[in-house]
Amino acid sequence: MAKIKMTTPLVEMDGDEMTRVLWKMIKEILLEPYIELNTEYYDLGLPYRDETGDQVTVDAANATKKYGVAVKCATITPNAARVEEYKLKEMWKSPNGTIRAILDGTVFRAPILVKGIQPYIPTWTKPITIARHAYGDIYKNVEMQVPAGAKCEIVCTDANGNETRKVIHQFGESGGIIQGVHNVDASITSFARCCFTYALDKKQDLWFAAKDTISKTYDHRFKDIFQEVYDTEFKTKFEEAGIEYFYTLIDDAVARVVRSDGGYIWACKNYDGDVMSDMLATAYGSLAMMTSVLVSPDGVYEYEAAHGTVQRHYYKYLKGETTSTNSVATIFAWTGALRKRGEMDGNEELMTFADKLEEATIRTIEEGVMTGDLAAMSTLDNVQKVDSETFLREIAARL
Ligand code: NAP
Ligand code: MG
Repeated sequence: MAKIKMTTPLVEMDGDEMTRVLWKMIKEILLEPYIELNTEYYDLGLPYRDETGDQVTVDAANATKKYGVAVKCATITPNAARVEEYKLKEMWKSPNGTIRAILDGTVFRAPILVKGIQPYIPTWTKPITIARHAYGDIYKNVEMQVPAGAKCEIVCTDANGNETRKVIHQFGESGGIIQGVHNVDASITSFARCCFTYALDKKQDLWFAAKDTISKTYDHRFKDIFQEVYDTEFKTKFEEAGIEYFYTLIDDAVARVVRSDGGYIWACKNYDGDVMSDMLATAYGSLAMMTSVLVSPDGVYEYEAAHGTVQRHYYKYLKGETTSTNSVATIFAWTGALRKRGEMDGNEELMTFADKLEEATIRTIEEGVMTGDLAAMSTLDNVQKVDSETFLREIAARL
């Protein structure tokens, strides 16, 4: 076949360890034989981040703003052990954090469903995509342990120096604990916009939940901002797309999620998203089958796998042992980005290719050929565990 052409580049961010190894193999085996890949390459592998003083991460984020679509490999977030291992000049910040701050985006996580890997909740036949607000609340809290008899107040001093006070609690014979939390209208608004934008993109309903009956000012503000953004910017577009925005109380949402068959986007406040995203990832079966996309409020998309660099497998690989590392989420990061590039450029061939590569990947697993992590969970009776490279070649054969 003639290779598929790409008119506009895609931002490609390479990464670390086992996922860097898979990255190269995916390109060689599944992409380059079919597409004249047009990418602007940024090496976010830790050695080059260190060499450039992390400038490469900033450059990659700015390029994403410029071109609108990026695909990213998993990267190491350095800790003390990594500073030693890589002889780093500094303990560089999380690349994902840096990119998210520049794009002002929200992360959406969605599972990839295949026959043979059963969700713990059998009614979940469609993916539930979860979005977590990534600013404020208890993650930026101020707290204190206070003695018996303490009178605790919140005090707001406005820009003119006027004070407003409210008593939190007059402690009696027992001391206790207090906490101050905040959020910012601009951040909540931006989060709401990202969620509505992504729901429209996926043509799926958007759910949002908080505890506004108890938290009549704080959580209620979230509810009001979502409603306002919806009414002024998205209502008509949602009606045209035949999708709904649905607000409910968080406990009601949890009950409905468990009873549902999936197929919607669930926007969560920071803490709810922290807890519920781990619950969903586990319930769907495997972190290696979870995709992640960062969406900015103005519609810039960055795709990646939700898992990390799979360090333990990489050390085996370095010793020359064969590995059986699951590349599905990384393949889907590529197909997500290629499809979005195709959609933005009106490139039908590229979009079709993305669909076919996803179908071939799923069919490979459903025909029993899979990596060790899935083989250990699969309910199929003809399971054949293969190594990292064989898995990709089996997909290519079907593609
Ligand atoms: P991890 O790389 O996600 O791996 C944790 C374990 O999960 C693995 O040891 C493996 O289990 C299993 N696993 C994850 N992905 C798999 C795959 N594709 N195929 C097969 N098994 C898979 O998390 P981590 O070990 O905590 O973190 C390693 C590095 O990744 C850290 O330096 C961290 O900073 C980075 N990280 C990056 C991102 C990102 O860039 N988005 C996200 C998270 C972590 P077994 O060992 O039992 O086989
Ligand atoms: Mg968590």
